[in-house]
Amino acid sequence: MQASEISLWMDQLGSVPAAPPLAGDTAADVVIVGAGYTGLWTAYYLKQLAPALDVVVLEAHTAGYGASGRNGGWVIGELAGEDRLLAGLDAGQRAACLALLRDIPAEVGRVVAREGLDCDFRHGGVLYCAARYPEQATRLRAQLAHWHAHGHGPQDFAWLEVAALQQQLRLAQPYGAVFSPHVATIQPAKLVRELRRCVQALGVRLYEHSPVSAIRPHEAVTAQGRVRARWVVPALEAYTAGVTGVRAQQIAVQSMIIATEPLPPALWAQIGLAHGQAFSEWSRLVSYGQRTRDNRLVFGARGGYRFGGKLRASFALTADEVALRRKLMLELFPMLAQARITHGWGGNLGVARGFAPQVVVDAANGVLSAGGYGGEGVGASNLAGRTLAALICGTQDAILQIPWQTTPDRLRRWEPEPLRWLGYNGIIRSFDWEDRVLNDPGSAGWQRRLAQGLAAGMEGLMQ
Ligand SMILES: Cc1cc2nc3c(=O)[nH]c(=O)nc-3n(C[C@H](O)[C@H](O)[C@H](O)COP(=O)(O)OP(=O)(O)OC[C@H]3O[C@@H](n4cnc5c(N)ncnc54)[C@H](O)[C@@H]3O)c2cc1C
Repeated sequence: MQASEISLWMDQLGSVPAAPPLAGDTAADVVIVGAGYTGLWTAYYLKQLAPALDVVVLEAHTAGYGASGRNGGWVIGELAGEDRLLAGLDAGQRAACLALLRDIPAEVGRVVAREGLDCDFRHGGVLYCAARYPEQATRLRAQLAHWHAHGHGPQDFAWLEVAALQQQLRLAQPYGAVFSPHVATIQPAKLVRELRRCVQALGVRLYEHSPVSAIRPHEAVTAQGRVRARWVVPALEAYTAGVTGVRAQQIAVQSMIIATEPLPPALWAQIGLAHGQAFSEWSRLVSYGQRTRDNRLVFGARGGYRFGGKLRASFALTADEVALRRKLMLELFPMLAQARITHGWGGNLGVARGFAPQVVVDAANGVLSAGGYGGEGVGASNLAGRTLAALICGTQDAILQIPWQTTPDRLRRWEPEPLRWLGYNGIIRSFDWEDRVLNDPGSAGWQRRLAQGLAAGMEGLMQ
């Protein structure tokens, strides 16, 4: 693989020998399909709850080949679509669930410390920034009011005026920000690699280069052999559709990122981000990033959807794909005009209908899965791993009250093509048009209102 085709994160790791492929039939208590975070966290927590369990993990490539080895490294203490997920709860239940969700980065931090996982974990919080145009500040203030009206206090989400923001991060055109402590940053591929090492040391049997072709009741099938187990855990997120027999209704979308060369201290003195804070820009087409441990800026923005939910296999970004992200980065950080972009990559992630993640329980067939994290899977997969392990072991755990469990017959299906493709493109184009109109100081008031109204209407279609 060319360096340009793999993530900065994987490029920074030395290679390790692959685990052997599955050779012949075997039996286990649990077989997990996919060695990303969902699969590895599930294996980890299973071994915590029941060390004697025989756990097998089957991975088509090597651990971290999927989104887990390629993402932006934000460990977020929330679930995508959380408002909708928690909507039916009373105030007490909602507060209990929010506390569990906000605790996700801290839980990852606890395991990192306990197991000595070397993954550049920093619990520095996040700056949601209003930048580039004033409407971002209006929307961000409205979101802050929403947070404060729904069980959060200023200790969770606090407004920063421009002067306060600039003490942490200096953007070209700041309008204010919200700071939240509920995000940590990691080097994503290091976390996968370390979890892989950790679960192997706990006795989990990992087979790499062992693609599963079908999942059947209590069984995962590969060309080299099959694994019979009481529980089968498809942990495939965007790759789910490639395996027959799994009824998780997730579709694959793509997300893309660039990274600069390591930047000198003088540039970081201008930019800030001294304490491992993540940052994002509050537009409907989110741009986000982090300062890496080796002082690069990693900047993610925009993505894509392929007709039929097809996976994208090669992430050697085109010159145009890199240029778009660099342009957006320079609008926020013009001081980076001379900085070299050393890496550009992307990955496939899974989105569930309803835009909220799910734990799917098919008890009759012994199949338990989780995914559809909608671009917020780094932290959510930890919660998923704990949830799946507790369900399998029959353990009482407060996290089981989070209302994201469902059954295959209750899954919402995606619309058939070409409706999905048309819907995706209609929504993204309206967001893109809004962004261009609002970013142009010459746009008339009526244009700004029209663009925002259209984009808000299209956003409503996503529910
Ligand atoms: C560019 C990008 C940036 C992102 N940034 C963030 C972020 O900053 N914060 C955040 O919270 N989320 C982010 N996400 C989302 C997050 O990375 C994912 O939701 C999460 O990693 C999903 O983990 P997973 O283990 O469920 O799936 P994956 O990591 O995709 O793992 C699935 C595994 O299954 C394997 N597999 C596929 N087919 C088979 C088969 N037939 N048999 C066996 N194994 C198979 C794959 O090789 C892969 O290793 C981002 C995603 C992308 C792509």
